[in-house]
Amino acid sequence: MTDIALNESLDYSYGQARERLRKALENAGRTQDDAKLLAVSKTKPAAMIRQVWQLGQREFGENYLQEALGKQAELADLDDIVWHFIGPLQSNKTRAVAEHFDWVHSVDRLKIAKRLSEQRPTHLAPLNICLQVNISREESKAGVLPEELEELAKEVATLPNLHLRGLMAIPAPAQGVDAQRQPLAALREALASLQSSLPNAPLDTLSMGMSDDLEAAVLEGATLVRLGTAIFGARQSA
Ligand SMILES: *Cc1c(COP(=O)(O)O)cnc(C)c1O
Repeated sequence: MTDIALNESLDYSYGQARERLRKALENAGRTQDDAKLLAVSKTKPAAMIRQVWQLGQREFGENYLQEALGKQAELADLDDIVWHFIGPLQSNKTRAVAEHFDWVHSVDRLKIAKRLSEQRPTHLAPLNICLQVNISREESKAGVLPEELEELAKEVATLPNLHLRGLMAIPAPAQGVDAQRQPLAALREALASLQSSLPNAPLDTLSMGMSDDLEAAVLEGATLVRLGTAIFGARQSA
């Protein structure tokens, strides 16, 4: 593909993704600023991120630390870009994540949360945190189990350099909006229950909805939808 073809198709698919979110919000009877679009740019080059930024997108999600750090360096001139770390997070990566991201969506253990708080540079705003919930109770999947969520959230809410903002989930794939809605409704209810047990935490974020279940997620109250394929096209399998 020529550069021009690439530019035009990315402009088009980004516009389509925005329109999809707009319609989903409208169909759900929600207002247009009730949910934001997080552009998931993993495996995609910095030039594509820059192009989508030029179209007005500010929130970007990355899964792989080394890859993300390289792209952040290339895009250092975009000073209002907001970086979200959404991939699996091991202890040996917490320092770089605490230093280079604004949000982390994949916290599911107290040990990781404590390290992020200790390692967050104090000249930066607190790191925004979503706890990842294993909402479909899949064996060997990341995320805290629903029955362990409240205890973890209470501990994380006390950590000084973090802001506990909400919950994230990647439900098991399901066919059709009705089936997709069930785990997403469970995540919404889990957030509501945390809001009553932790009234002082800024719990305003439901990070759910991907290219395959955006509409279901918006119906269930998603506030941050994470679209990769719908914006950037298919990824090469890793
Ligand atoms: C890759 C990824 C996405 C985007 O998925 P698409 O199906 O490409 O929209 C969203 N969230 C997480 C956590 C991801 O890893």
